Amino acid sequence: MDTFSPTIYRLETDILIIGGGAAGCIAAIEARERDPQARIIIMEKAQIERSGCLASGINAINAYITENQTPETYLEYVKTDSHGLLRDDLVYSIACGVNQATARVESWGLPVIREKGKPLQKGPRSIRIKGESIKPIIAHKVHDEKITVLNRVTATNYMLHRGRVAGAYGFNLRNGGLYAITAKGVIVATGGASGIYRSGNTGEIAHRMWYSPFNTGAGYAMGIRAGAEMTSFEMRFIPTRVKEQNSALIV
Ligand SMILES: Cc1cc2nc3c(=O)[nH]c(=O)nc-3n(C[C@H](O)[C@H](O)[C@H](O)COP(=O)(O)OP(=O)(O)OC[C@H]3O[C@@H](n4cnc5c(N)ncnc54)[C@H](O)[C@@H]3O)c2cc1C
Repeated sequence: MDTFSPTIYRLETDILIIGGGAAGCIAAIEARERDPQARIIIMEKAQIERSGCLASGINAINAYITENQTPETYLEYVKTDSHGLLRDDLVYSIACGVNQATARVESWGLPVIREKGKPLQKGPRSIRIKGESIKPIIAHKVHDEKITVLNRVTATNYMLHRGRVAGAYGFNLRNGGLYAITAKGVIVATGGASGIYRSGNTGEIAHRMWYSPFNTGAGYAMGIRAGAEMTSFEMRFIPTRVKEQNSALIV
């Protein structure tokens, strides 16, 4: 009888980033900018070129301070939208950095549509882009920066040492290889928790939902299991829109 004996990898790094979506990749690039010598690993359950919510591209940047807006008006908008269930300081600091974040990805090759030199507005806080390749553009920059990427490796739990997160465990979804990675710092960027409530779609199309179905809330679960304080979960975004309608026309 065959015995399954997966390879075990023990790695050591300065920064471990779990989830190589938009946030994880950009965190890795920023870490590289701040410390050119740092050892940085991205652990991604899919493949950073086309993983996460941006996988098939987007046509707008929906968090942008346009001409008549300010970080303060942005905060007011988000407050109204979320009925006040948010941390003002976090939203405000994000609002202060969104245009710079877009400019940065534009400098890596993202086409931002412009009219008379100014980004073309889609809405009060949104601008138009040609974003089909936004994820490959970001991934290309990650590779340029010589960041180690472990594609197809899914994180399962944090490694704890004296009450602190000291790394993470994961396994390769294709060959079962096991990873134990110790790190001086761990950043979790595994996206949201799709499918936490049952979708209207069932059976073979149960995965058809607006948000990336592969973001299953692993980062939250790992945090809860490790005893971390979970914050800012009072407001959940649950899109109730109809997408990917399956229908048959009978004549
Ligand atoms: C259909 C759709 C359309 C959108 N359109 C727009 C738009 O036009 N404009 C706009 O500004 N925003 C848009 N958004 C929102 C935007 O895409 C997201 O806000 C953004 O991509 C979130 O980035 P993220 O890095 O947090 O998550 P993601 O980009 O989803 O990254 C999470 C990553 O973590 C990985 N991961 C998950 N679990 C694990 C695990 N256990 N181990 C390892 N890796 C793991 C996933 O594979 C994924 O790569 C859209 C979102 C969707 C779903």
